[in-house]
Amino acid sequence: MGVFIFSCGFWLFTGIICKGTDARFARGVKEEVWKQVGNGRMLVRFPPDKKAAPMSIKAYKYRISANKTTTDNLDRVLNLCRELYNAGLQERRDAYETRVKRHPNYYDEASRKHLTKEHAISVYEQKRDLVEIKEVIRPEYLDIASHVLQDVLFRLEKAYKRFFQRVKNGEQPGYPRFQGRTRYTSFTYPDGAGWKLDAVTRPPDKKGMVQVKLHLSKLGTVSLHLHRDITGAIKTLTMKREGEHWYAVLSCEIGNPDALPVSDEDVGIDLGVTHFAALSNGEFLEAPRHYRRTEKKLKKLQEALSRKKRGSHRRARAVKRVASAHRKIRHQRRDFAHKASRQLTNRYQVVVLEKLQTANLTRRPKPKQHEESGQYLPNGASAKSGLNKSINDAGWGLFTELLQVKAAWAGREVVFVNPYNTSQMCSGCGTEVKKDLSERWHSCECGCELDRDTNAAKNILTLGQKALLGGTRPTRATA
Ligand SMILES: [Zn+2]
Repeated sequence: MGVFIFSCGFWLFTGIICKGTDARFARGVKEEVWKQVGNGRMLVRFPPDKKAAPMSIKAYKYRISANKTTTDNLDRVLNLCRELYNAGLQERRDAYETRVKRHPNYYDEASRKHLTKEHAISVYEQKRDLVEIKEVIRPEYLDIASHVLQDVLFRLEKAYKRFFQRVKNGEQPGYPRFQGRTRYTSFTYPDGAGWKLDAVTRPPDKKGMVQVKLHLSKLGTVSLHLHRDITGAIKTLTMKREGEHWYAVLSCEIGNPDALPVSDEDVGIDLGVTHFAALSNGEFLEAPRHYRRTEKKLKKLQEALSRKKRGSHRRARAVKRVASAHRKIRHQRRDFAHKASRQLTNRYQVVVLEKLQTANLTRRPKPKQHEESGQYLPNGASAKSGLNKSINDAGWGLFTELLQVKAAWAGREVVFVNPYNTSQMCSGCGTEVKKDLSERWHSCECGCELDRDTNAAKNILTLGQKALLGGTRPTRATA
């Protein structure tokens, strides 16, 4: 029966639930399950033994500080790694050019394939050449741990593999690129060789951040700002540059995380224009107010930058200021997304979200005209393109991503539904109450009085429950 209703599409579904509030739960869809959950606001629980994500890798990123010499060393090594990457890429391109492309049989597909295979340079051949490079051609590479250099070549190999895989899938990928200074920003120690970390946990009596020494052989010692403890076995260390800041990223293998106890609350979320998000229980998630301040500051800095003469020192300084403002905004967004998704994961068992479609977000509302006078009426375009929207837009993708990851770790569920018509439909009775974007209040004849976004969130929750109960399978988070 359930399958039957869902396959009949949306309109029949609304038709059925229009009959009245009570009809929502007496519509014959898996009635026994609804009875189980009592008042119907709750969704079927998942069995408590539901496993959380299996053995996984977690990356910890820490800001580091270093003295001038060590920073210079880091920059130098990064640059040498980049050079090696580009040289490896050039070698592969040359090999193809001379041995395959200029071969007389190039236009015969079979022999071209054969040639490509025969003359392909493998990562292992390039690895063997490293010895000669270090001892004869470029002695400056002797300073770099050999596994770091090998990792560079494996990165190149990965780029090629991805490229060919995508060609095979019929996509149109870009050929692996030469990396400029701004694109190649990290180098990796793929194992424990060449570096040593003094401590992985903070002393129990210390709260907040502690400084821990990270020794990099031949490069120097840096202090790592250990703002949280590292758990699990450290597998790799990546040194990463972002603008002027350096970070150490430690990837750790972590055993089965403990799932949180099953919660009896579910929630639907509407990502909105006036609020960051509206919850189906009437609460709102607000983006912090300091967002606006940093955005305004960024705008001013960008204007200042546009007044500077190209190639001047002042312009270079202004570019740096703009970059640092961007970084600040990025960090603030990430911070908020982490906190909000953590709150939701801790509290709710099932979180239902609308499936985000970037096309929908960027689409402008249609212009609206008065029927008789032909005058243009407010259509909500300014609200949609306002400052708030730009702030929220950038945060939603990250927020949903983090939510999925956290839910998977905690053994909780994130469900995506199609948000079509959720803002127009009444969550109380199911009738359609037309409203344009500027109408912030939902008021229905059935007596349902709600904030517009809360109403949408309630509809989203209902859709998610419907999807989980049977019929269509929801998109489940598997992170
Ligand atoms: Zn109603």
